Amino acid sequence: MMTLLLSFCRSLQMLWKNRLYPGSSPRNWTFSVLYSYFHFSKKEQRYFSFTLPFQRNTKATNFLISQAISSNKNDKDTSRQESSFSPHPLFSAGTAKKKSELLGYKKDQQHYFPFSRPELLPTKPLSSEEWEKVKENFEQKNIFENWMMKQMIKYNCSIDIAKSLLSWIARKNNGIVEYKLLIGYLTLCVSQRQTAEIIDVYEIMKTRYKTLEREGYTLLIRGLIHSDRWRETLILLEDIKKVMSPSKKNYGDCIKGALLHREMNLAWNLYFEMLNHRIIPNWETFQAFFDFAKGVKNNEFERRLLDILLYLRNNQMYPNEPFAQSIKMWFESIPEKKWKGESVLIHKSGQCLACGRMLESIHLNSEEYEFLKQRVLKDVLDGGDQYRKTTPKEINRFEKFIKNCPPFDIVIDGLNVTKMFPKIRESETLLDVVSQLTKQNFQVLVLGRKHMLNGSSRWQKNEMTAVQNMAYCFFADNVSEDDAFLLYATLHSGNQCRFLTRDLMRDHKACLPDEKTQHLFFRWQQGHQLVFLNYYPGKKIIFQSVLTYDTVIQTTGDSWHIPYDENMVERYSYEVPTKWLCLQQQN
Ligand SMILES: [Zn+2]
Repeated sequence: MMTLLLSFCRSLQMLWKNRLYPGSSPRNWTFSVLYSYFHFSKKEQRYFSFTLPFQRNTKATNFLISQAISSNKNDKDTSRQESSFSPHPLFSAGTAKKKSELLGYKKDQQHYFPFSRPELLPTKPLSSEEWEKVKENFEQKNIFENWMMKQMIKYNCSIDIAKSLLSWIARKNNGIVEYKLLIGYLTLCVSQRQTAEIIDVYEIMKTRYKTLEREGYTLLIRGLIHSDRWRETLILLEDIKKVMSPSKKNYGDCIKGALLHREMNLAWNLYFEMLNHRIIPNWETFQAFFDFAKGVKNNEFERRLLDILLYLRNNQMYPNEPFAQSIKMWFESIPEKKWKGESVLIHKSGQCLACGRMLESIHLNSEEYEFLKQRVLKDVLDGGDQYRKTTPKEINRFEKFIKNCPPFDIVIDGLNVTKMFPKIRESETLLDVVSQLTKQNFQVLVLGRKHMLNGSSRWQKNEMTAVQNMAYCFFADNVSEDDAFLLYATLHSGNQCRFLTRDLMRDHKACLPDEKTQHLFFRWQQGHQLVFLNYYPGKKIIFQSVLTYDTVIQTTGDSWHIPYDENMVERYSYEVPTKWLCLQQQN
């Protein structure tokens, strides 16, 4: 036992030797490693269990989503979606998820990686001999140490166990613990907020490495903000800037550190620096400002928080539920202003059910419409990056085609619409949709690809000929980006023209030059995109009604209406929330 302990101490000395600058005090760390080693080495032989020590993290194992289409589900309750509070299911939070389930897209329930079963994970710190034994039972010896650390992080092991692993590794590697393992250990310490340990690892890293990679900096910043050495996170932030641009997480953590230590100006300066670098803060960062300002009487601070809300408006961002709660509490905490907030739904007419005010309309006036049209058409014709799959020649051909057609009422993305019903032949769906719409005297344009005309089991020639006899059709090269054509044709036809696609053109929105145009685009899209309420082949097509009000943060001065995401509702990026926070000043 004595020799064992001596050699262990020697290896620890080697671990720290030459890596600590004079004056630093890694003693605690060394001591605690030693302590845990010594303390547990006397315990019984069986140090690890063969059962799961922690709850399996299903979220982490679930992240692979299978797109396999299983086909036997029918829309049973789509009619329920036509409630007066959620008038546009396509754009309402949670609809896409429901829809994809109805259409048979399933999340894969269980996807395990070959090594994700934690049978070998110890429940107590182990001695070196015990670690050797565990390793003997492990098949892929060369990845054992890193694998073990990963498991410990995944199952949030006690840091004493991780420390016993590091001690063993240091001992057999002449005191060297590789960077990746050190980072693993740091990850564990940060997630368990073990500040003293974090500071020790920080000292080791500072001495041993001139610069770190992003993960190292990120962990150290996150870990240090709670300590009295939080100001050093600003030095780390500067270090990051020398080689790359700091992430929103890095800035967010530094801001939180400053707020925690009541350095308000510093926090705001970091926030503005972030915005100047076009880094969008995450919710926790925004929320931190509101939380720390609660009950504080400071006009400057108040103005800045309202600016945050306007910034969110301009970027069409919707707070999550905890943040919405913080906003409400902050408003209600402002002395003498008598704000009252409540969570509400909006009637489909656009009226707030709490205060009776009408929300901003979604419809573009003619000036706004012209502005958007010119912007988007110019974008399509200029052929920015997003359209590089379309050749100028093809755009030219399309432009000429459009000029020779009357304005359309409905533009259909043929390929996309038919994909929605995997059990039905594509050309059959297309023909059914087109003939129903043309019977209602709509002027219809079908956009498609050349391959749809070649004749196949999915695209029958006679049905495609029938489609061409009823509607205007444009078939692009098989490699073309048809979104561009859809936008062009719809906008060119005028404000009455709608379009039918399941696709939501997020990329296009993102490519628009500024926030104003993006917001107009989103309003236009919500007001012009048609969605099937229900579709069975041969039965009458019914579209969902279109939203009349704009889902965006808005104010009248003495009121605020803030749409937010509810905790349990999964919203796709093109959907809008249905819950609102209504804030009114009581007079
Ligand atoms: Zn209201």
